[in-house]
Amino acid sequence: MKADLIYKTAGQAERLTALEQNIPYAVATLERDGGCYLWVVRQCPLCGKKHTHGGGCLSEDPRIYLSHRVAHCAGDAPTGGYFLVEAE
Ligand SMILES: [Zn+2]
Repeated sequence: MKADLIYKTAGQAERLTALEQNIPYAVATLERDGGCYLWVVRQCPLCGKKHTHGGGCLSEDPRIYLSHRVAHCAGDAPTGGYFLVEAE
């Protein structure tokens, strides 16, 4: 099985877990920031704004950071968390 396929399957499992637990999920894309990875949520499911989450160092697999994360919403937006899910 190709690695990509394993990761895709993992992403689907996270989506299902989020749905079952009634937790929103945020689609995130991977970007590089110097010697680190960033997971960028372009549109937060809670407030609609852009948030970034740490994705570890370049020597790590950034996908281990795809999990339940606290949303970085500002101001009066609803607070809570979401599952980070890799964009397809
Ligand atoms: Zn937000």
